[in-house]
Amino acid sequence: MVSVEERYEHLEKTIRGYNISADFAQIKAAYVYAREHHGAQMRRDGTPYITHPLQVAQIVAEMRLDSESIIAALLHDCIEDTDSTYEDIAKRFGVTVADVVDGVTKLTRVKYSTMEEEQMENLRKMLFAMSRDIRVILIKIADRLHNMRTMEYQTPAKQKKKAFETMEIYAPIAHRLGMQKVKWELEDLSLKYLDPVAYDDICKKLEAASDEHDQFMSAVQSEVNARLEELGIPHATVYGRVKHPYSIYRKMYAQEKTMDEVYDLFAFRVLVDTVSDCYNVLGVIHDLYKPILGRFKDYIATPKPNMYQSLHTTVIGEEGIPFEVQIRTYDMHAIAEYGVAAHWKYKQGIKKEGGEGTYEWIRRLLENQEDADAEEFIHSLKIDMFSDEVFVFTPRGDVINLPAGATPIDFAYSIHSAIGNTMVGAKVNGRMVGFDYQLHNGDIVEINTSPSAHGPSRDWMKTAKSSEARSKIRQWFKRERREENIAQGRASFESELKHAGLSLSQITPPNVLPSILKRVSFQSLDEMYAAIGYGGCTALKAVNRIRDELLQISRAAAVEKASQEAAAAKEAQEGRPPAPQKSKSEKGLIVEGLSNCLVKFSKCCTPVPGDAIVGFITRGYGVSVHRKDCPNADPDRRTAAEQGRWIKVTWSDDVYESYTTSLEVVCKDRNNLLVDISTALSSCKVSVTSLNSHITTDGFAIFHIAISVSNAAHLDQVMRKIHQISGVMKVGRPAG
Ligand code: MN
Repeated sequence: MVSVEERYEHLEKTIRGYNISADFAQIKAAYVYAREHHGAQMRRDGTPYITHPLQVAQIVAEMRLDSESIIAALLHDCIEDTDSTYEDIAKRFGVTVADVVDGVTKLTRVKYSTMEEEQMENLRKMLFAMSRDIRVILIKIADRLHNMRTMEYQTPAKQKKKAFETMEIYAPIAHRLGMQKVKWELEDLSLKYLDPVAYDDICKKLEAASDEHDQFMSAVQSEVNARLEELGIPHATVYGRVKHPYSIYRKMYAQEKTMDEVYDLFAFRVLVDTVSDCYNVLGVIHDLYKPILGRFKDYIATPKPNMYQSLHTTVIGEEGIPFEVQIRTYDMHAIAEYGVAAHWKYKQGIKKEGGEGTYEWIRRLLENQEDADAEEFIHSLKIDMFSDEVFVFTPRGDVINLPAGATPIDFAYSIHSAIGNTMVGAKVNGRMVGFDYQLHNGDIVEINTSPSAHGPSRDWMKTAKSSEARSKIRQWFKRERREENIAQGRASFESELKHAGLSLSQITPPNVLPSILKRVSFQSLDEMYAAIGYGGCTALKAVNRIRDELLQISRAAAVEKASQEAAAAKEAQEGRPPAPQKSKSEKGLIVEGLSNCLVKFSKCCTPVPGDAIVGFITRGYGVSVHRKDCPNADPDRRTAAEQGRWIKVTWSDDVYESYTTSLEVVCKDRNNLLVDISTALSSCKVSVTSLNSHITTDGFAIFHIAISVSNAAHLDQVMRKIHQISGVMKVGRPAG
């Protein structure tokens, strides 16, 4: 067995191998400090506890990180597991080290009790968000890697749980950070506990065939080497490897094959000095072996979002065995193996270790990436740098994603409106806080409710950061405080009315009231008062509409009076009842040069107020209104005969009705998609007239939704809300 001292010496040697000027005095001091503080603590495998931080520091050193990272790795469990404190570490090792240790401690305290897939991405994002300094997450990954390596001493239940977390959270994070080597090891170690039978099977078969594999690989290796020497390509390293067990496992599943049927087990690497040599080597490989069409990928010209660069090709070797060849420079290789950590190494030479500007290079690097995947990646790192979201936990361990600056009120309403409405107190990390407390990443939030709670106060609407909470509070006032709302609404309505020079007696007569109510879209005056009371409608808006309506009524009355006299005269002549009044256009449109004409909205593009529109005079059905961007209204498609029938149409100012329009939503199919979409729709106060969906063969769900909205801005809000739902790829307005 290797002694603790030997392990420490090995660590120093590793560091010396890449960083002669490391701060060995402080590293030693950190080791001694950690050893003393962990004291007699033991690990489950019977070794002294200090072996764990030592091994974690060893992994961190193998990532070639700076002295502060090594020191923090040695101390990473001190705050959590010993009587050491942040202040003490800051005093002895500096604030930066203390901050990194503190960051790792916070990540360690995160409890993952959920297994739901949608929560995983939130958890990954949260870990990034909590890692102010990228070194925090690198040390955490090293910590997890060592724990997974020594997982055999844990109980089976703990093994499964940790393996699942590792597979779902840490391996994807390592992948995002471009740390291929760590990612593979984490995946293999997880598979070992998640599907032990399959893992053993793969390992045994690989072992049994290992001589055969070695022979094949060394044959290819010497063939390629010989050719490269012939051509004088300098410093080339060629080697083969068998793919790692988890990658074979995935192939078996994806292709429904047994281990014996998975052929592309081998991957070769050729490392050279320069990019032009990479392309030369590619030529050599394609000359020696038959390339498989469509398998060549140039990640040198177009790097992967996680910075990975390489040429990939798959060729067929002897006996028809296919194998993959990856060709890259030594620098690209370091990045492929260590990802973000490899960049750290380059940074060290240029600038002082750590400090400000730490993210500069990541940012620059990421901003050069363009595809959608890259954007996703940038976003996940950006949370850290320009945070606009905050991730907190329920006491059960679910992650709740809220806008930055969110308070316990937002949290409570995001769980359920009933929780918000009966909230009497809030605890964050076990401590009572005020309702205006700003939540931080990783906070565990607990809401105390009481059936005798007074309900929300109107101030909560100002305190809440999320529109969800505000709208739920508004709904509560609408429902629970009807009497109060009516009284309040009536008061502000009457004062607004008076301000406009009108009186209540002008709108209450039975021949006037119905059209007034129709104009403001309420069933009764009380309903209107209530809406004004809870803030669903402003008194000013209602009064403006009523004033317009009164004006129209008095004009119409004058016209009607004249026409009634004429009709009466006619009736007297013919003895027939008067013809019904022709209904006016009530769609809030002004048709140039025409008044009172029949207007309808085209079904192909369903315009709403705010859209640019154009009208077409149909034969016998009045004017049909299209969006200007509707293919059916495309000026290039108009025939000469039609030309004169296209006319200008504009929205009038008194638009207020609801308008039916349709949306097309394309999503990656998943559970609960429909629920999320309908929740989004109802939170925007949209009524749905129809909703159809179908699933495409390639796993996409396409929804056609007909909804009523009040105008383009409202529609825009709805579309944005739907777009935010996880899995939604596109929200569009069909036309043509
Ligand atoms: Mn640890």
